[in-house]
Amino acid sequence: MGYARIALLGPPGAGKGTQAKRIVEATGFVHLSTGDILRDEVARGTQLGVEAKGFMDRGELVPDELIVNMIRGRIEAASSGFLLDGFPRTLAQAEALEKIVALDIVININLSREEVVNRLTSRRVCRNCGAIYNLHFKPPADPTRCEACGGALYQRDDDQPDVISNRYQVYEESTAPLVEFYRQRGLLQDVDAERPSDEVFECITALLRA
Ligand code: AMP
Repeated sequence: MGYARIALLGPPGAGKGTQAKRIVEATGFVHLSTGDILRDEVARGTQLGVEAKGFMDRGELVPDELIVNMIRGRIEAASSGFLLDGFPRTLAQAEALEKIVALDIVININLSREEVVNRLTSRRVCRNCGAIYNLHFKPPADPTRCEACGGALYQRDDDQPDVISNRYQVYEESTAPLVEFYRQRGLLQDVDAERPSDEVFECITALLRA
């Protein structure tokens, strides 16, 4: 693969996590998902987790400084390549990132608001291995069990309808401006996520090989 420092952009529910898992399997790059790291901090009851939980439950962004401090060392350690998933999410984070490392490519996964709401309300996640399912598009044989590891499937606290609409608004206000930010730098590539997940993955793979 030609690119080793990659960021995925896009609204919540566009499939960033699903695509990220496949990309890191194919490339061996380090998957850096700020959402996953934060959920782990919350589950372990760390100080960062306690500070972040309220923001997450309301569908708001965790303050930039906490996020940048949390991710900096992980980026610096991933010298052979990384995939950022859910970071950066604000202009301040993008500017902080530029001081840490230069990205090779930013993939913008596009999805309409209506489809975001559809997908998030039916998303289920494995509590054990983090595998992502969708009750409509990628239904597990048993809606309560992970097909990969048998772990319990759950609905994220922030995938409740009132929180979803807040998360989308936060995306439009804080994260969508990054599309122009990276387009101006010549780093942005758009991918239409309205299509089946396999096609989206093929499209991303082609971009990464370019
Ligand atoms: P995600 O799994 O990427 O949808 O993230 C879940 C939640 O974690 C978000 O709604 C935010 O509350 C928080 N979060 C994740 N990444 C960031 C980030 N880069 N900046 C601020 N908050 C974040």
